[in-house]
Amino acid sequence: MALKYKRILLKLSGESLMGEQRFGISSDMLHYYANQIKELVAQKAEVAIVIGGGNIYRGLSAESSGIERVTGDYMGMLATCINGMALQSALETNGVYTRLITAIEMRQIAEPYIRRRAIRHLEKGRVVIFSAGTGSPYFTTDSAAALRANEINANVILKGTRVDGIYDSDPEKTLML
Ligand code: UDP
Repeated sequence: MALKYKRILLKLSGESLMGEQRFGISSDMLHYYANQIKELVAQKAEVAIVIGGGNIYRGLSAESSGIERVTGDYMGMLATCINGMALQSALETNGVYTRLITAIEMRQIAEPYIRRRAIRHLEKGRVVIFSAGTGSPYFTTDSAAALRANEINANVILKGTRVDGIYDSDPEKTLML
């Protein structure tokens, strides 16, 4: 079957990695995503992933614990790198070639973001995992997904998340009312 989209930007929220857990990374979810992504790659799709961090840390929740907002946002960005490493490991164990790219330099762990290099990885059939969001506080990984999708000329943005549609307010909060 011919693929409808050649180059895909997949946004995976941190929470989507939690599965039934209340926190952290579920190995079942990791393997589930790794298998699905492997299938996409086998069909010659070029896959870039922007990974979230909400399962570990969100900058907004920092302020109430006495941590400055900007510091909290950087902590949230580091959380996305932890998730990115987990996803990279699950994919590579599954035989999928990957590159972990970060918007905040940490050379021992991930490549710095260089647009043309990221595109080259995709052309070579490697799954690119973008971590550390945009690299700037006061943003979210959804913004990073929109930004990177445009930068790499993705044909579509797909989002794996816990909510089932588009809301005009936070559905997790609405549910609690
Ligand atoms: N974050 C940020 N700049 C970015 C991306 C993320 O400051 O470009 C911080 C922000 O604090 C956010 C946290 O990282 O709450 C985790 O990202 P996000 O909430 O988007 O993760 P998701 O909801 O997808 O799990």
